[in-house]
Amino acid sequence: MLRKWALQVEQGGTKKEKMKRIEEYTFNKFMEARQLRVIVHEVDLRRWALQARDIENLQTFKAGHTWLYTFKKTFKLVSKKITRFVSTNMVNREDDIHLQCSVFVNEVKSYIARNEPLNVYNSDQSGFNLELHSGRTLTEEGIKIVEGGIQSVSSTSHSFTIQPTISADGQLLSPLFIVLKESIGHFGPIVEQHLFRPDNVYLAASKSGKLTTDYFNPWLREIYFTNTGPTTVLILDSWSGHCKQTVNEVTPEGKNVKLFIIPKGGTKYVQPLDVYGFRTWKNFVRRFSDIVLILNHDINLHARNNIIKLQSLVHNQFSSPRFQNFIKYSWYKPGYIDEKPNAFQNPVEYCYAVENEPRCHICGDLVIIKCAWCKKSSCLKHFFYEYHYCRNYIE
Ligand SMILES: [Zn+2]
Ligand SMILES: [Zn+2]
Repeated sequence: MLRKWALQVEQGGTKKEKMKRIEEYTFNKFMEARQLRVIVHEVDLRRWALQARDIENLQTFKAGHTWLYTFKKTFKLVSKKITRFVSTNMVNREDDIHLQCSVFVNEVKSYIARNEPLNVYNSDQSGFNLELHSGRTLTEEGIKIVEGGIQSVSSTSHSFTIQPTISADGQLLSPLFIVLKESIGHFGPIVEQHLFRPDNVYLAASKSGKLTTDYFNPWLREIYFTNTGPTTVLILDSWSGHCKQTVNEVTPEGKNVKLFIIPKGGTKYVQPLDVYGFRTWKNFVRRFSDIVLILNHDINLHARNNIIKLQSLVHNQFSSPRFQNFIKYSWYKPGYIDEKPNAFQNPVEYCYAVENEPRCHICGDLVIIKCAWCKKSSCLKHFFYEYHYCRNYIE
């Protein structure tokens, strides 16, 4: 409902166009405030107008009395006596979150317009518990208890957390950050010796297998700043570990990052990775795990190196240019970008599609997956055991 008031800030244009955008911005802010029943005065209009002036870089504009008068007249705003005071708590909490999210998206949008989508990032963590299989199965009609077989969870099983980063132009940043659960909180010397360390994965270990505040620093230092340009925008959720102070402390010289924290409770609406990305990532892993079981293969998917290998392969598949529109869609849906991406197949649809000629391109065995880079179909051996890490893109 607020979208129609949304400001699309673009730099440039004539003074007249800039003024028009400043007025739209001011009116947008006014509407947002009044929907929350906030009491608004002339001085607030002026402040919003001056904020917009800074965005537009139109320093000659002072938002003086004449402008205020005309503005109020144009948008039919008058000062009225308040007839009823309401507690702002009465305004529905969910409405409030929606509203905050809408304001948030508009603000980020103005930065996207100035920083190019490829410099705008979203990163978040997602935990994988020991259960990696699908929650559904085909079964005969009328069956009451539907059981699903799983791999046994043993002492060598690891839960883990991944932290992918995506850009508003549809790229998946490399490497992927993975934190594995290790009972001693780090990789022991023998484990370290045999640890599979793919190029597209950055490994860490913790006692919980979860990302804690301790991992925000290394992520920023080792992954974010080393793999992004000099000026970037970063959107994170309101998890307590994400704070401006840490970011400021870790930001290296010559780098500049504008941090946006998603309003509390708004993650499911406006966090690009939550809108689309994580669900598909998990589905991709589940489908793979199901295949391993159905083919009766003896791969322990909870073993450290197999977790790393599979996540590395998933990250590699998701990085294919074929899925650029898929990632972009996660930014389009919450309203960060206006241009609707062309139709696409998501990684699960593309890679697990049943082919007419389901033979592995190397050995002729049964196909389990089609590579989103080279379009070649592989059996389990040639995709997983032989580690089909691919950068050879065939359109
Ligand atoms: Zn094969
Ligand atoms: Zn390939």
